Amino acid sequence: MKAYDFLFSPVTDFVKISDYTIKLIKKCCGGCRVIDLLLHFPSSIQNRTADVDNFSDKDKLTLVVQVLRHMAPMGRSQPYKVIVAAGTLELQIIFFNYNVHYMRKVFPIGETLCVSGNAQRTIGGIQIVHPDIVTQASYAKYHVGIEAIYPLTAGLSNKTLSYIIATIFKSIPEIPEYIPEDLLNEYKLIKFSEAIWAVHHPKSMADIISMTDARKRIAIDELLANQIRLRQIRETINEHKSKIIRENGQLTGRLKLPFQLTVDQVSCLNDIKKDLASTKPMNRLVQGDVGAGKTVVAFISMLMVIENGFQAVLLVPTEILAMQHYSTLKNLSENLGINIDIMLGSNRRKRSLQIEDLKNSNIQLLVGTHAILEDNIEFANLGLVVIDEQHRFGVLQRAKLIRKCQNNGINSTQKTESGGVPNVLAMSATPIPRTLLLGCYGDLDVSTIKTKPARRKHIETMTFSVSKIDELATKLQKLDSQIYWVCPVIEESETLMDVTTRCEYLNNIFSAPEVSILHGKMKPQEKNSIITDFKNKKIKLLVSTTVIEVGIDIPNANIMVIEHAERFGLAQLHQLRGRVGRGTDAAYCILLYHNPVSKIGARRLQLMRETNDGFLLSEEDLKLRGAGDILGKEQSGFNSLRFSEFADNYSLLTVAEKIVSSLDLKSDNTAVLCDIFSRIENDTSVFG
Ligand code: ADP
Ligand code: MG
Repeated sequence: MKAYDFLFSPVTDFVKISDYTIKLIKKCCGGCRVIDLLLHFPSSIQNRTADVDNFSDKDKLTLVVQVLRHMAPMGRSQPYKVIVAAGTLELQIIFFNYNVHYMRKVFPIGETLCVSGNAQRTIGGIQIVHPDIVTQASYAKYHVGIEAIYPLTAGLSNKTLSYIIATIFKSIPEIPEYIPEDLLNEYKLIKFSEAIWAVHHPKSMADIISMTDARKRIAIDELLANQIRLRQIRETINEHKSKIIRENGQLTGRLKLPFQLTVDQVSCLNDIKKDLASTKPMNRLVQGDVGAGKTVVAFISMLMVIENGFQAVLLVPTEILAMQHYSTLKNLSENLGINIDIMLGSNRRKRSLQIEDLKNSNIQLLVGTHAILEDNIEFANLGLVVIDEQHRFGVLQRAKLIRKCQNNGINSTQKTESGGVPNVLAMSATPIPRTLLLGCYGDLDVSTIKTKPARRKHIETMTFSVSKIDELATKLQKLDSQIYWVCPVIEESETLMDVTTRCEYLNNIFSAPEVSILHGKMKPQEKNSIITDFKNKKIKLLVSTTVIEVGIDIPNANIMVIEHAERFGLAQLHQLRGRVGRGTDAAYCILLYHNPVSKIGARRLQLMRETNDGFLLSEEDLKLRGAGDILGKEQSGFNSLRFSEFADNYSLLTVAEKIVSSLDLKSDNTAVLCDIFSRIENDTSVFG
């Protein structure tokens, strides 16, 4: 739509910037279109005052000064001083890093200038150290008041980014309103253009951290865009029919499992069979606690589809999990004669061959990460998409998969050959209440696996202070157990323990070859070989990031240590804990906390000790949310939302739902609304 085009045009249409800066902006704001910058919100403020009598340590002082004289120091260790006058007051501008030549050029004696920077009172009078603004005196009025501070990236200064955003505001026309006025009035919403302006012009810190009218409007719009997309997905699905698929036993009948399916697994499969046998495309979520046995349900469903001549896809959020599923499925299908392949973002060597094989149906079952979603990947006749750990994926990613199938299905000339709209089966260990599910994923059916396989062990959970780490590590070393030791970060950080440092420490207590490190930044072959070694008991202690959090299934490991447990959310702690207790030995989860522990943190640790019930924990998790100290927000299932992080905004979701039902979903305005928020999708490759 013409009236909105400028929002999606490159910033360079409005501001002159170098290619280098453009790169930085892309990195920082996720894109270089006007809208990308407008939706890059300040995260803090800076007060600049002109009041020399009343400024605080946090403020910057902006003054019009006259340059009196320079005081070059004798040695390099001394600062360079420029003595200036502000009215009757004499003050010093101080530089530790300087170039005399440059100083003379910037501060010519007798010149009147505007300077602004951190100021302090000393015995020698007021000093401004390394002012960040030195400019013409007439500009002083622009450098007083509250200034927005933006999240930045190395190489990009707040000054540059602020300048670019300010110039955009000056250059663009007013953004036309896309929500009808009566709805705005009914729900007491301010205009989008006003909201965007207000967010970039905060008056106090409260404007940054609280749900102001401006932030509320934008959060609602984002939720609206999400809702509209969901409805559109749903409508497309409903417009089309899927092929009828009935289990014929050619593959499922020959499958030999090392165990008997539980009652819940069987009833889950019955639900799925019914869905597949109908021409209404399946849209089902299988909920089941960690270790409930969802993989095998997915696998049998895929076999039913494959034995009917269709392809199946298993989409997972991490490469490690993809490799594990791939090898599990390979083992299970050894004598079934089906062609299984794996596709990862980091492994492109065989890609062109794989693309061919998918197009001509040589690959029947594809396991992979979001790499599968890339544009050049097409299927001959995709019949089933399984999304494992579904809460890790966003709406757009689902939409992409479905579109893929339409491309090779409905719209193709071989309509009759294809699977039409594919069936979607989502798996999740993080149960979310129904209302939220609808808000997040639209209308879907749910099957639940309540009972776990019989031999599942109870996991004893204990808490330990990190001050007792020597004692703990020595004890663990003596045990004949395999241990996971999870740290929140990869590299050294000020506040959190990293895998590298912890591994060095543990190497002193365990004998070195017993210990290995694992994190998401490693090459896939490396990760794979470490996981294999751990599986084959060549490694005793695996120091890892949360990259092992989802899905990893290594039954012989029976101890899980989670460092900084006080900083993880309940759902995530429970997922991590679920990595153990899969074998025949007693299992333990040790929550290692670093003081200080917040009140909510302590409550979480206590809940973890008290229960192993994932459903209960997930309910409690929702109640405890909104505490700002949680790591790994992606567990929430709302990872694709930037402005409307669910926890605080349940009421907003309700409002968004009401508005959506009064909107014309086919209008150009709704299309604009969706486009405005369409960048917002997490790249799942960053996990771990
Ligand atoms: P999740 O539901 O967390 O994805 P998995 O599918 O990874 O759980 O299953 C966990 C483990 O339980 C696997 O080792 C799997 O082989 C095993 N398992 C699954 N179903 C059964 C069953 N009915 N009886 C015994 N073990 C089972
Ligand atoms: Mg799983």
